[in-house]
This record gives sequence, structure tokens and C-alpha cells, in this order.
Amino acid sequence: MKIHALAVQTGFEVDTETHVQARTRARALGAFVREIPFATALLDRDLALVAVSPEWAAQGVAPRLEIEGDAVAGGLVAPEDVEALRACAQDGLAFSRYLPVLDEHGVQRVWRTEFSACRDAEFEEGRAYAVMVTARDVTGYADSVLRAERDQQRLRMALELDDLLVREYDLRTKEVYFSGTAPELQKWCTFQDDPLEVAHPDDRQRCTDLVATRKVGEARVFEFKLNRDDGVETWVRSVGKVFVGADGKPEKLVNLFKDITDRRRHTEAIETLAFRDPLTGLPNRALFQHRFQEAVTASESLGEMFGLIMIDVDHFKDINDSLGHDAGDALLKRLAGMLQHAFRSSDTVARLGGDEFAVILRGLHGEADMTRPIEKLQDLLRRPIEHGGRSFTASASIGAALHGDPDADPAHMIKNADIALYRAKEAGRNRSIVFEPSMRSEVEQRLELLRDVRAAVAENEFTLFYQPVVDIREHKVAGFEALMRWEHPEQGILTPARFMAAFEDQDLSLKLGDMAFETALRQMREWLDQGVDFGRVAVNISSAQFRSGRLAQEIQERLARWNVPCERLTIEVTENVYMGWGSDLVSDTVRQLHEAGVMIALDDFGTGYASLANLRQFPIDRLKIDKSFVQNDEDEAIVRAVITLGTSMGMKVVAEGVEDAEQLAALSRYGCDQVQGYHFGRPMPAGEVPGFLRGFGG
Ligand code: C2E
Ligand code: CA
Ligand code: CA
Repeated sequence: MKIHALAVQTGFEVDTETHVQARTRARALGAFVREIPFATALLDRDLALVAVSPEWAAQGVAPRLEIEGDAVAGGLVAPEDVEALRACAQDGLAFSRYLPVLDEHGVQRVWRTEFSACRDAEFEEGRAYAVMVTARDVTGYADSVLRAERDQQRLRMALELDDLLVREYDLRTKEVYFSGTAPELQKWCTFQDDPLEVAHPDDRQRCTDLVATRKVGEARVFEFKLNRDDGVETWVRSVGKVFVGADGKPEKLVNLFKDITDRRRHTEAIETLAFRDPLTGLPNRALFQHRFQEAVTASESLGEMFGLIMIDVDHFKDINDSLGHDAGDALLKRLAGMLQHAFRSSDTVARLGGDEFAVILRGLHGEADMTRPIEKLQDLLRRPIEHGGRSFTASASIGAALHGDPDADPAHMIKNADIALYRAKEAGRNRSIVFEPSMRSEVEQRLELLRDVRAAVAENEFTLFYQPVVDIREHKVAGFEALMRWEHPEQGILTPARFMAAFEDQDLSLKLGDMAFETALRQMREWLDQGVDFGRVAVNISSAQFRSGRLAQEIQERLARWNVPCERLTIEVTENVYMGWGSDLVSDTVRQLHEAGVMIALDDFGTGYASLANLRQFPIDRLKIDKSFVQNDEDEAIVRAVITLGTSMGMKVVAEGVEDAEQLAALSRYGCDQVQGYHFGRPMPAGEVPGFLRGFGG
């Protein structure tokens, strides 16, 4: 019998007096066990089952266990637990186990079984006489424990894999727990009193502000530099959340940290490429646009007042041309430094391109917050700049606009600041002007026009028309004046009256000037090839074109490139150009061209302030009397005087705007050499020139 075999194994003497007594006691207890309202079983000292409670029987715990069976065979303990069971029966050592059991539906359940010895101090000096087994169905509990354990493990794996660190700070006990998954990071995530101590002083205020607005239970993401005393720069990304305890009060602050230094360096490098101006290191136009949009959004949603400043270096091109690009670069870098010095570090100082800079100032309280740093900048600008052993000064024109009006459209800010900048330039440069709404209209139109012209230049919408200049004595066409036309896709052919401002804009006048020369020369080449005797072509030159100091060379190079003789070209320069900025430069340039054989004509004579006396220093071949004199009978005396004077100084005199035979006859009488006007021909497309010449000669 099994019971016998086990009894032999356990080494009990089966038949002693006390043994029988023990069994009797066990049986007596068994009567009580049968009444117990939870799963309980009782074994005697020989480990034979004495009794089970109804619950035990109903639940089918170890169902094969029968009264006369044994514990192992009945499945109550696993073979390896026989030792423990024996120790319990013999020495009274309690133990517990998890017991997997299949229920009546074949579903596995887990029971926790606890084995404890039944003793009585009066019986055999407290030696065990039975073993009481209680069982609890812990199936659900075991599952969740297991699952939690697995989750925990999975979480840990993820943390380790990603070098993430969890820090739990008990707000009540001040205890700190770390997940230990990123030991290097953990070193710098400890703190004394304040969890924010881990943030670098540079970033702490920002973090404090973020924490201040964080609600309990809300997760916030931070990126900041760690406060490392070894000076190594380490950036972390942290998610922080405060958990509440059972009493609804904040209990724990949990932070997740990740070292993002590499990623940050990487994105910084990319950002530097995409959003920084390589010369000055300042934000470029793209970043400026982005920041501007942020300022617009903040002003719209929070009513924040912000300022925008546009800065343009005065005569930057001249500095570049006369002192060299190195000096120009040095100036731009110095200016970048001054700007950073004058404005707060939270302001965005950007280089938009060329010599154009812009500053966005956020969180302003009034206009003074904007004008103060501007004054500081102007002070800085007054200091001379040393470069390559030379010292020079630069000035800047500054236009500023302030946005605080919730009804106004902040997107207009750029335009407004531009208008103010334009005003500053117009008023003589080297000054700052703050935008006022009254400035808008006229200037706006101008800016819009310049924008349109810029686009039209890119689209090649500009061309030249040619107006004949007739020699009245010889009655033949002496040449043509090339006049610019804009072939507007919607408005048709536009004359310069519609885009005059473009000739006054530094950048555009150069572009248009380039285009005029190229077009005229290509045309002359074509006519020469076709044997069309066009005489000379006169090209108008604006003052900006003289600025480079290389105009004479440029023109000669172009003539050579198109293989057009110098004697085929006339340039027309107005007296304002001679009298204006850099007249030495103009004088040098025209002299070189004159010596090369290019004819020099003084355009619009009489409209400016020049007198013939002070024009004497310039080599002028031709004097063009402005059409306003020619067309006004009362100015007859002036016209006569100009013709007489010009002729006496060895210049040929051309009268412009001759519209009828009467005017022509008068001019001819006064001794005028050449005339130009509707009387002989209007400006015409190049294609009509050969026909016109044939008609005139015939
Ligand atoms: P401008 O140099 O004085 O050119 C003469 C202007 O008088 C031309 O006007 C011409 O069409 C106009 N004109 C000629 N004969 C008569 C006439 O009998 N009666 C009247 N009422 N007008 C006459 P346009 O073509 O409109 O050009 C205006 C101005 O635009 C030019 O004045 C010149 O200052 C400027 N311009 C034209 N093309 C160029 C260019 O390629 N470069 C530069 N820098 N300026 C240019
Ligand atoms: Ca002209
Ligand atoms: Ca003219």
C-alpha cells in the first residue's frame, strides 16, 4: 500500500503508542476540518489524508487525492516537495507552494497551498501530530503578477536599449529612485533639493517656466543642457509628470531622460547649413521667415507686441568696390557683431542677404524698447572699422515697425519696415525711421513696382525701342537712341514713365543697364552683319552704373565681345550724374570712353543745376537740349543761347522732342546740328529700323 510505503520512507514507527494517539488527535481535528468554510485539508503525521473541507472537495483541489491515498500520488505536493512536507510533519516547519491544477473544464488553475503543522503543547512536547493544508485559488492574481513582471521586464529592456533613464522622486519622503538603465546619464541626474538643479544655468529659467505651467498629471517635454561640473556639453530630452497619491495630492515626480547630444549636434549641423548665413553665422532669410511667423502667431494669440527692424548698409557696394571684397566681408561681420551687441540675445538678428539685415524683437512694452537698441547700434556704428591697416567708417539706414495693434495685420510688418527703411534712405541715409501708417501709399506703390520689375527682369520682359536722331544739315539719319520698353504681358508696351523708379534703384538699375547694353550691342552686331547703316546707337546710363568704377572697362569689353567698333556707340549721361555722387569717378569713366572713341552725350541739358562752365571739365561731345525747352516757345532765347554756347565749346547740339516742322525750322535757323522727335520718328522696335532707314534715304 502506498500509505505504508510513504510511512516507511518518512521513518515513522507505525505502531507506537504515541503514534496511535497522534492519529486519533488528527481524526478528531478532521471532524472540525470538514466544517471549515474554505478549502482546507488535513494530513496525519504519516501524511495520509484525514479530511477535506466541502470547499476543497467542491473546487476539486488535487481531485485524485482520496482519503486513503498519499500526498504525492494525489498531486498535493510535487515529488521535490516531499522533503518539505516531511519536515513540516516532523519538525513543524511551515511552507507554501503554488499548485497547478486542471479544473473540471480542463482549464489550468493555480492554487496557493500553505502547509502548517498542528501541535499541542500538552501532546508530546508540542510535536506535530498533523499537517493542515489550506488552498486559495490565485489563478487571476498569479497571471497579473506574471504579466506585471513581464511588462516590467519589457519596459526595462526598452529603457536599456534606448539608454533611457527613469527617475522617480517621492515628493513626500524626498526619496529618489533610478531605473539604473543609463548609468552615465544617472550621474548628472541626481540633485540635492530641487529636481531642476540638473538643468544647466543657461536653461534653468526656461525649464522653471515650463514646470510652472505644468498641471499635475500633465506630461511635459523639456530639452536642456545638463548641469555638468566637468563642463562636458550634454543635451537631454526629458518627459516629466507628477502623479497623485491615493489622497489626491501630488505624490511622485517621474522623469524620463534621454541623452540627445548626438542628435542635437546633428540637427544643429543641418540647421547651420540650412538656416545660418555662413559669413556672419547669423540666422539667414529662411530662419528669419520662420521666426517672423512665430512672432506673428504670438502676437495674434497672446496679443504680444513685437518690433521689426530692417537695416541696410549705406553705399555698401562702393565700399566693396573701392576697398575690396575682404573689407566688405569684414564690415558685414563687424556689423553682425554690433547688432548682436545692441540687441538682446532673445531678439532674432538675421542677415537677409547682401548688406541687408533684420531684427525681430519680441515681448516689447512700447516703442522705446525698440528705439533704445537702435540708438545703441548707431553709437556702435560711429566707431571706425579697421581692416588691413586701413580704417574706415560705415553707416546704415534703418527702418523700423512696431506691431501691437490687434486689429492690424502683423503680416504687413515686413512691408512697413521696408517702407520706413526706404524713407530713411530717401531722407539722406545714415538714420533710422519708425514706420507710420501715413507713409504707406506712395511708397507702397513704389515697392510694389520694384518687386514687379524684378520679376519682369527675370522673365525677360524688357526690350529696347530705337528712335532716330537726324542730322538736319546733311538730312540723314545720324543714329538712334535706344529706349527701354517693358513688354507687359497684360498692359502691353510700357514706357519708362511707368517704371522710372527702377532706374533709381541700385540693384535694378544695374540689371536693366546690363540688359540695355547687351541688347543694343547684339542688335548693332546684327545690323552690321546685315549691312544696315544705322550710324550710332545711343544708350542711356544711370548713375548707379558708374558706381563700380569699372564701367569704362566693362563697356569696352562688351564692345570687343560683340565686335562692335567704339565709334558706333554713344552713351547718354544726365547732368545730375555729373554733378552727383562721385563725380571724379564719372569724370574718369567718361574720359576713358571718350578716348576710346565712344561718343559722350550730355542728356536733358537745362533741367538740372549744372552750368556749362562747371561741365567744362568733362569730355562732352554732344549736348542734348531737353524737350521741355524745345517745345516751349517762351524758352526760345534759352535754346538759342545753349546752341551758341555749345557750338562755341566744340560740342554738337541735339534738340529733343521735335514734334513739328515749325520747331524744326526754328532749330535749323539757330544752328542746331541734330534733332530727335516724333516729327521724324517715334521710338520703334528694332525690326522696323531697316525699313525706316530705307524710307528716309529714299
Ligand atoms: P530721355 O533719355 O530724355 O529720352 C527721350 C525721351 O523723349 C523718350 O522717352 C522719348 O520717347 C521721348 N521723346 C522723343 N521724341 C519725343 C517727342 O517728339 N515728343 C515727346 N513728347 N517725347 C519724345 P521714353 O522712351 O519714354 O524714355 C523716358 C526716359 O527714360 C528717357 O528720357 C531716359 O531718361 C529713360 N530711359 C529710357 N531708356 C533708358 C535706359 O535704357 N536706361 C536708362 N538709364 N534710362 C532710360
Ligand atoms: Ca536719353
Ligand atoms: Ca533726354
